[in-house]
Amino acid sequence: MKENILGIDVCSDTYNELTAKLLDDINHNKKSFIVAINPEKIMKAQHDESLRLLLNQATYQIPDGVGVILASKLKKGKIRERVTGIDMMLKLCEAAAQHHKKIFLYGAKPGIANEAKEKLEEMFPGIQIVGTLDGYEKDEVIINETINRSGAEIIFVALGSPRQENWIIKNKEHLTPSVYQGVGGSFDVISGRLNRAPVMFQKFGLEWLYRLIKEPWRWKRQLDLPKFLIRVLKG
Ligand code: UDP
Repeated sequence: MKENILGIDVCSDTYNELTAKLLDDINHNKKSFIVAINPEKIMKAQHDESLRLLLNQATYQIPDGVGVILASKLKKGKIRERVTGIDMMLKLCEAAAQHHKKIFLYGAKPGIANEAKEKLEEMFPGIQIVGTLDGYEKDEVIINETINRSGAEIIFVALGSPRQENWIIKNKEHLTPSVYQGVGGSFDVISGRLNRAPVMFQKFGLEWLYRLIKEPWRWKRQLDLPKFLIRVLKG
């Protein structure tokens, strides 16, 4: 099920429902593409038609960000829980370990994807991470061959947004994995290079506040939230 928030489709499925759909996509050899939606992206898409089309082309747009939940509530929609990019990735890793699906990690600075691989292997015994590649390799032939030779069925792409989404759209038809998820800075977090917000912040949906304290230069971007909610109410 999808809801439309200011022209952008957002899925109302839970982690478990999405995981079941993604496993089904792999089993039926269907290509699917997961993109994380937050108010910042929705606002940007208001005056960037190509971004709007790009986000709407994804198979599953996950509601990553409390602002999206608030918008759904204001519009009497059904989205009540966030599905964050990193937690969706971890759920998918857990399911992949259980169901013997192969994973590829593409993106982040040299060495980071490998460190993330090691951490995921500790977290999910039996997981098959069949390849990694840093996000600064620019030779498309090397990138395509490394991914296709690995036999991966799921690929996590950590190139930042919208670079990763553009890369997925451009390449997924000639690559062999079924499931493509853009995961931003998640490899940096999983590898332990970047700290995730403490659990209490996560529980109350206050990651934005933690990020604001750690990286104050983001305040300008975050000021868009009230503007976003007013726009949702008017729209
Ligand atoms: N990155 C990359 N290749 C590039 C540019 C960026 O692999 O050419 C990586 C970068 O090292 C970082 C991630 O993309 O790991 C971007 O993370 P960020 O948190 O900025 O992404 P966001 O989710 O905010 O878009």
